[in-house]
Amino acid sequence: MLETEWPMAVSCALSPPPAAYLSELRNRRKGKPPTSAPSELQIFTHDQRAVSAAGRILMANFDDLVPKAGVDAAKSYMVVGRDRYNVVVLQDAAGFRLLPNHKLEVKEISARDILSNVISVLLAQFGSWNLKDSSNAKAFSDALTARFSKPDARLLLVKGKIKGATRLEASHGKQKIGINVFVLPPKSISVAFRFVKVSDSAGNPLDTVKDASQNQALLNVLNWTFAPQANVSFDLADTDTVKITLNRTMEESVNALKNKLWGKEFEKTGLQSRSKKAALTVFFVKDYLSRDDNGMSETFWPPDVACVVADAPKDYVVDGEDPFEIVFAHEVCHVLQNMQQPKEIGKGTGHHKRDSILMCENREGAKIDEPLMKRINKA
Ligand SMILES: [Zn+2]
Repeated sequence: MLETEWPMAVSCALSPPPAAYLSELRNRRKGKPPTSAPSELQIFTHDQRAVSAAGRILMANFDDLVPKAGVDAAKSYMVVGRDRYNVVVLQDAAGFRLLPNHKLEVKEISARDILSNVISVLLAQFGSWNLKDSSNAKAFSDALTARFSKPDARLLLVKGKIKGATRLEASHGKQKIGINVFVLPPKSISVAFRFVKVSDSAGNPLDTVKDASQNQALLNVLNWTFAPQANVSFDLADTDTVKITLNRTMEESVNALKNKLWGKEFEKTGLQSRSKKAALTVFFVKDYLSRDDNGMSETFWPPDVACVVADAPKDYVVDGEDPFEIVFAHEVCHVLQNMQQPKEIGKGTGHHKRDSILMCENREGAKIDEPLMKRINKA
């Protein structure tokens, strides 16, 4: 006897179709009526796992829509802002019912007109994070539409109601699945950009390739990295060009460093051009060596918060990531950690060894995992 409702997910492409499935196929060839007529044929193996018509072993689970958007299904972890939204997929979970949770408001996206409303809500949220014309925001809504048309995916719009950690769970009979959810308060940081132009006595320019025409794109980097993954967003307070003319001593230093601006010289000549309005000023320079001679970028903290980010990229980032964007987010993440962990300033580097996560001292990516999230925005 086949059941029509059974949990489903996790493809197992290498497994051969089980005997029960083959026998069902033989019956169908002989013209016998199918024993059930779900949209995707399901048969149980001897150990009671459901199998799709394609021989896929099905198991209900929570899944993410796009990477680095606040849901990491592999780690059974997601974030959502308080009074903000995120989307999680309930995969292969026909028959599963959501269990009540007073910290969240969860709605299943069940019809196309509801989907278009949800996309409007999410795009408005991206707009409130200053993510204008963001390709990532469009990729998110495209992924939502694509996943919606798949019969094995149920899309859940999750709204954070009460700050803190909780667990979103669904059950079917004795089976229960869940994902840990952190409802994060909103944090808004004002940021200023300074584009550093450097000339020496011979008029040789050492100017950054960045300029004010890239303000929005630069703001998008910060907001896409930190808003969906940690509910920290950035507003642009002001933007300016900073001109530094090198004296003879500084010229010698720059020449000795093969056209790098040295942190100790920058501290004397450029740092005072930081914004008076913003909580954080980011200086973009062409090439740089930190005050301790170890870094290509650095963060000054306190009394006035500033980062220096070089055009020259760090070359050991996750494949497909933009090295400049990783360095930029890395320096700003130092500031976010310092803001929340003031007692730790100067005690550690703020780096870790978790591969492919932001702030990893080895191969680094833009992903924020649970330990890093907790260092920049407390649930
Ligand atoms: Zn660092």
